[in-house]
Amino acid sequence: METFDVVVVGGGPGGSSTATFLADGGLRVALFERERFPRFHVGESLMPATMLLLEELGARAAIEERGFQLKYGATFIDEDNNAATQTFYFLPGQPWPNYSYQVPRAEFDTVLLEHATKRGVTVFQPATVEGMEFDAGGVTLTVSGESGRFSVRAKMLVDATGRDALLATRYGRRTRIPNLGKVALFAHYKGAARRSGLEEGNIRVYVFREGWFWWIPLAGDVTSVGAVCHARTVKQWTGEPEGLLDAMIARSRGVSENLAGAVRITPVHRVANFSYHNSPVVGDRFVAVGDAIAFVDPIFSGGVYIALRTGQLAAAAILQAFRAGDFSARRFAAYERRVRAGLAPLFQFIHKYYEPSFFDLFMHPRNYFGVYEAVLNVLSGGNWVTMPWRVRVALRILFGLGRINTWTRRRAGLPVESRLEW
Ligand SMILES: Cc1cc2nc3c(=O)[nH]c(=O)nc-3n(C[C@H](O)[C@H](O)[C@H](O)COP(=O)(O)OP(=O)(O)OC[C@H]3O[C@@H](n4cnc5c(N)ncnc54)[C@H](O)[C@@H]3O)c2cc1C
Repeated sequence: METFDVVVVGGGPGGSSTATFLADGGLRVALFERERFPRFHVGESLMPATMLLLEELGARAAIEERGFQLKYGATFIDEDNNAATQTFYFLPGQPWPNYSYQVPRAEFDTVLLEHATKRGVTVFQPATVEGMEFDAGGVTLTVSGESGRFSVRAKMLVDATGRDALLATRYGRRTRIPNLGKVALFAHYKGAARRSGLEEGNIRVYVFREGWFWWIPLAGDVTSVGAVCHARTVKQWTGEPEGLLDAMIARSRGVSENLAGAVRITPVHRVANFSYHNSPVVGDRFVAVGDAIAFVDPIFSGGVYIALRTGQLAAAAILQAFRAGDFSARRFAAYERRVRAGLAPLFQFIHKYYEPSFFDLFMHPRNYFGVYEAVLNVLSGGNWVTMPWRVRVALRILFGLGRINTWTRRRAGLPVESRLEW
C-alpha cells in the first residue's frame, strides 16, 4: 500500500491550495479528484484578496497569463426600486490589488491543480475516495480509480470535497441555514451586451422580485448568467430548468435587454439548498477546508477566496502538527477559530443584505466614519488579511444605522422583513 504524509480529497481551489502549501512545506502529499479536468463548476467571480493568495501560492503568474477578464468592481441594480444602481470599485492602496478576475472555473481549477502537481503533489484523477478508516496511527483511504480499487495510507486527511463534505456527511452533520434554501439556475451565453473600459468586467447583480441575477462577463465574449431564486418560485414551476431560467430572464428588464441576441452555449445548470454549515470541521487526524466547512450565499463572490485561504491556514496548522508529532483535534482548534472569525463578517453581511433597511444603506453608501472603506474591506476579502480597528468600528456603525433605518421604515409603513422571508 502506498503511503503519504497527507491525503487531500478534492481538487477544487481548497484542495489545490492545501496540497500545494503542504508540499511546499516538505510533506509527501497525495490529492484525489473524482472528476476529469477541465470540468464545469459554478463560482466564477473572484474577490481581490484572491490575488494575494495566488501570489503566496506561487500561481499568480500562471493565472495572470491566461487572459481572464479583469474585474475592478461590482454593480448592484435594484429593479424593484426604479433600477437604482450602485457601483463599488475596489480601493487602491490596500494590501491587495484593486482588481481580480472573472474566471471560467474549468480553466482556473485546472491551472491550480497543475500547479500543485508542479510543486510535487501526487495527483490521482479521476479517483473517487469511497471510504476512510481512522486508527491510532493514521488513516486508510479506499479509492476507486480507472484501474480499479486501491488503498493508500497517510497520517492526516484533508476534506476538500466541497458541497459533498465527505467527513461531515459520514461522521457529522450538515445544518441547513433557515430561509436560505434558494435555488440557482445558470448558463453561459455568447454575444451578450458588453460595457467598455473599467466597467467591462464588473460583476452585475440585478435584484428583482423573485430573487437576484448574477451577470459575470468572462473573456472571449462569454457571459455567465445565473438566477438565484426563492425556493417557492422554483417549487411552483413544473417544466424544465431551461424554461424556468428563460422565464426568470424575461422578468428582469436589465438581464433580458442585455441578453437580446445572445446565444446560450452551455446546458442550464441547477444547484439547490446550497446554504449550510457542517460539523465537525476538525478532528483527530483531519481538517476540512472550503465548502466542506460551510457555504452561505454567493451574493458577494467569496467562495473561491475562502477555499484558497482556509487551505493555506489548514496547511500551516498541519505543518505545525507534523513538527510536534501530534495530530489530535486539540491541535486544530485554533485553525477552526480562525476560520470562524474570518467567515463571520461576510456571513453577517449576507444576512443583512437581504433586509430592506440595510439594503437601502448599501445602495446609498456615504462615507461616514469610514463605512465605505469597511464595506469594501469585506467585499474584497480583506477581513482575512487585516481588520484594523477603524474598519471594525465602521462596520458596527453601519449595522447600527441599519437598525435605525429599520425603525424609521417601520414608522413610515414600509416593509422591513428580510427578503429571505419572501
Ligand atoms: C450558485 C453559486 C454561485 C457561486 N458563485 C461564486 C462566485 O461568483 N465566486 C466565488 O468565489 N464563489 C462562488 N460560489 C462558491 C464556489 O463555487 C465555492 O465556494 C468553491 O468552488 C469552493 O471550493 P472548494 O475547493 O471548497 O470545493 P469545490 O470547488 O466544489 O471542489 C471540490 C472537489 O471535490 C471533488 N470531490 C468531491 N467528492 C469527492 C470524492 N469523494 N473523491 C474525490 N473527489 C471528490 C469534486 O469533484 C470537486 O472537484 C458559488 C456557489 C454557488 C452555489
